[in-house]
Amino acid sequence: MLTMAGKGTAPAGLLDAGLVRQARAAISGVAMNTPLVASRCLGGVTGQPVFLKLETLQPIGAFKLRGAANALSSLTPEQRARGVVCCSTGNHGRAVAFAARRLGIRATVCLSHLVPEVKVAAIEALGAEVRCVGRSQDEAQHAADRLAREEGLTDIPPFDHPAVIAGQGTIALEILEERPEIEAILVPLSGGGLIGGIALAAKAMKPSIRIIGISMARGAAMHASLLAGRPVEVDELPTLADSLGGGIGLGNRWTFALCRSLVDEVVLLDEAEIYRGMREVLLGERLVVEGGGAVGHAALMAGKVKPCGPAAVIVSGQNAPIEQVLAIGRGEPVMLGGMEVKG
Ligand SMILES: *Cc1c(COP(=O)(O)O)cnc(C)c1O
Repeated sequence: MLTMAGKGTAPAGLLDAGLVRQARAAISGVAMNTPLVASRCLGGVTGQPVFLKLETLQPIGAFKLRGAANALSSLTPEQRARGVVCCSTGNHGRAVAFAARRLGIRATVCLSHLVPEVKVAAIEALGAEVRCVGRSQDEAQHAADRLAREEGLTDIPPFDHPAVIAGQGTIALEILEERPEIEAILVPLSGGGLIGGIALAAKAMKPSIRIIGISMARGAAMHASLLAGRPVEVDELPTLADSLGGGIGLGNRWTFALCRSLVDEVVLLDEAEIYRGMREVLLGERLVVEGGGAVGHAALMAGKVKPCGPAAVIVSGQNAPIEQVLAIGRGEPVMLGGMEVKG
């Protein structure tokens, strides 16, 4: 666990809580205001009321639609006419494809071969052009950079962009308006767009709130970067939480500074803990979830986060391969790049 001291002030710059409030108007009609429901099982485990923010119910099955819709809505007519490109671990690409189709914009999505087939197919079904390149998020990003340069497409980054961060931050407005008593928010953490936006908006509304990030131990780029005091690279490895894979970019401009100043704690989970979290969401909450969306449950079940008051858990996505979900529900081991995982 990484606990950080001297918190509280957002880094200065173009990004502030006002941008999150503007994003809310821009995305309404594309992304939904998702339900915040009482957890059926986490209250007993933690002794505190725990609420689940069901981003799994977004039209694309994950929260990323918020950031993508906000970023696309802020393009100029020229940019819209030329089209957009992005790289993605799957859900951002699907979000960009969905929002682009709504607005009649041409979209190209660059994916690495680590992205599950179910996510690739969903992006193609939304009418986007898919390019599968390399074995890491970095290679996919380079392909997107090249297309942006050569074809004049506008790159929509998966997390390190003010409009994307502000879009994800709208989740915090919804949570605290509905349940102002919430004292901690547990957030799946990869590149930090989700937690950065949530922390920015939540701390502006309620400075005492605790924001806790949760990543998989296998390839936790933001955690390693916070420890090092600057963005660093980590090896990208197969994980049940595939949507949390990838680096934060050595040239990170926004999310590293946001996490360093506003995130209170970062917790890491092993694959067996993520497996048990997915199983608990499935069997206990009766909800389909992907590994990256189950890390809040996993951290609470493992006792790695102990809330002192009412807490909200971001259940961030549901787009796991269905065979994986069914196997975990039955308690069977699942294979991850040659490694067997079970609870
Ligand atoms: C992208 C993603 C995350 C992490 O979001 P970041 O902004 O990269 O930290 C968490 N859960 C799911 C399901 C995702 O798709």
